[in-house]
Amino acid sequence: MDLSRIGQFDKLVGKIFSANKIERILLINPPDIDKTSFNFPSAHRGRNMNYSPYGLGLLSSQLDSIKVENKILNLNHQILSEAARCGEEGDFNFASITQANIDEAITGLNPDLIAITCMFSQTHQSLVDVISQVKWRFGGPIAIGGVHVTGAMSDPATKSKFLYDVKGVNFIFLNEAEVSFREFVKYINSVGDKESLSQFVALNEDSFIEFKNRSTPNGDDLNTIPNHKKMESGELAKVGKIGGFFSLLPKEARLSTVLSNRGCRAQCTFCSVRNFNGVGVRRRTVASVIDELKILKFEHGINHVMWLDDDFLYNKREALTLFNEMVKQNLNITWDNTNGVIAASCTAELMNAAADAGCIGLTIGMESGNRDVLRKIRKPGTVENFLRAAEVLNKIQQINARVFLMIGFPHETFSQIKDTIDVSLAMDLDWYNVTILQPLPNTTIFDQMLSDGLIGDIEFSEMGYNSGTHGKKTNKSGTSVDPLSIDFQDAFRDKKPEDIPDKKELDNIWAYMNYHLNFKKLFLEKRRPKLLQQYKYIRNIAELVAPNNAFAIYFASFLHNQLNKNVDNKLLQQFINASENNSYWKKRCQEFGLDEAHIRLQKYPNETSLRI
Ligand code: SF4
Repeated sequence: MDLSRIGQFDKLVGKIFSANKIERILLINPPDIDKTSFNFPSAHRGRNMNYSPYGLGLLSSQLDSIKVENKILNLNHQILSEAARCGEEGDFNFASITQANIDEAITGLNPDLIAITCMFSQTHQSLVDVISQVKWRFGGPIAIGGVHVTGAMSDPATKSKFLYDVKGVNFIFLNEAEVSFREFVKYINSVGDKESLSQFVALNEDSFIEFKNRSTPNGDDLNTIPNHKKMESGELAKVGKIGGFFSLLPKEARLSTVLSNRGCRAQCTFCSVRNFNGVGVRRRTVASVIDELKILKFEHGINHVMWLDDDFLYNKREALTLFNEMVKQNLNITWDNTNGVIAASCTAELMNAAADAGCIGLTIGMESGNRDVLRKIRKPGTVENFLRAAEVLNKIQQINARVFLMIGFPHETFSQIKDTIDVSLAMDLDWYNVTILQPLPNTTIFDQMLSDGLIGDIEFSEMGYNSGTHGKKTNKSGTSVDPLSIDFQDAFRDKKPEDIPDKKELDNIWAYMNYHLNFKKLFLEKRRPKLLQQYKYIRNIAELVAPNNAFAIYFASFLHNQLNKNVDNKLLQQFINASENNSYWKKRCQEFGLDEAHIRLQKYPNETSLRI
């Protein structure tokens, strides 16, 4: 232990914590997006994501264990609740809502320390805004942490810009920080050990005091159940969405999230999971996961969970034990794995057990169908794995099976992207979430692209969600971009296979893939459970995500007709409004041969008779 560093730290603590004690801590989750990018109509419709602040819930449980009073202020939930309540956008004042909530929480708790988390790079500006609102009202110390904070601090290319943006914070916690944060608080309260100080940086005017050793949660710490009461887990789905499969559930369903495994066996070059969680996978006991599911079910009324795991099926035996136990305990909870599973783990035995245990949806992380690209990005999968997993999942109709695809890898050619399309078509799964690569700090691909001169100015707010929860194309408001609003007819026409698409061409290919892999093949679907899943999913797009999207309305009408053999007049009218009153959609519908007469007369074209 470096004693001069400890001495400096003690001196700093004496200066910052006047009573040399931390008795109360306020934990803050900022809004997912800052006020300039916030999409009020989408939030008002209840369309924005409202995940539980799981990391803060874990911190809260650790603080409870050492009897330090704490409160979670979930500003994302507060903003979405106000947006749902507020009738007019003009009456909605984002900054006043966050400031009022911060003021009230500070007055109520009188904290000795405020800790703010930040998971996504797209939340960066929101984090910066919340820090400044907290500082306006609170003169005490501020700590920050989370995935984005760790990524930005760990990459030399982003560290100084990040530190400039968060000027004024006193402590920066890195990686999974619930143990290091607990030990930090214990040390300041004179009940801890200086040897346990780890994984944080204390900012002392213009210098740093760094504690680089890791305290990765294991054993009992890993089995700790987050404080769902303080996280308000039963309330979140009332004003926002959780995961990618909510549209398949009844409107009154109550959703939450659970984390069983931490880390991932793989090391894909575009993903920050390994750098954040460390090498390999750490597993909770099945008993502690079941205990958490029971708390969610019986204390918070939750009937659907999304697993937050990055490698949920890592250990086949443990996964089977968990599924069997869920059945045995008669939990009657459905679940999904939005974040993605590794194709090689999707065996018939495991997938059938998953379905028996309530699985309604999962996403396979595939990214590419080209062998060279898969090798370069170190994806743990082969074309054979993907096809085998698809064969298994196509036999279990209860599970809505989706696939993550990514395009725009450095030097990826038109022909390699075509391979991805061909393999996807051969897999014939339910939906393909296509993303254009946006490299994140603290990933191998970010560093490679930086040294190749492929990354210009660093703008945190422009960085997309490229793994896990948000593995889909999103705009700054966090809502999905309309997949068919780009003119993509010539995406591959007259292109040389060996050429590398530019940014505009990638946008066209992205839209082309969405249409051909997702919408167009709906004309071929005959299986009733699948028709129902697709109908619910697309109706949700037509109602909540993009109510003016004539294509989504058309396909929702088609699927309604396949299921009910009649016309949904509400959708018919919505299609007429969208396609007649909007010159853009009018032209697109004419180009694609999508006509209101198909809906009215219940005579739809088949896939081959479509114009594109
Ligand atoms: S992208 Fe998925 S499979 Fe690859 S390292 Fe990240 S979590 Fe693991």
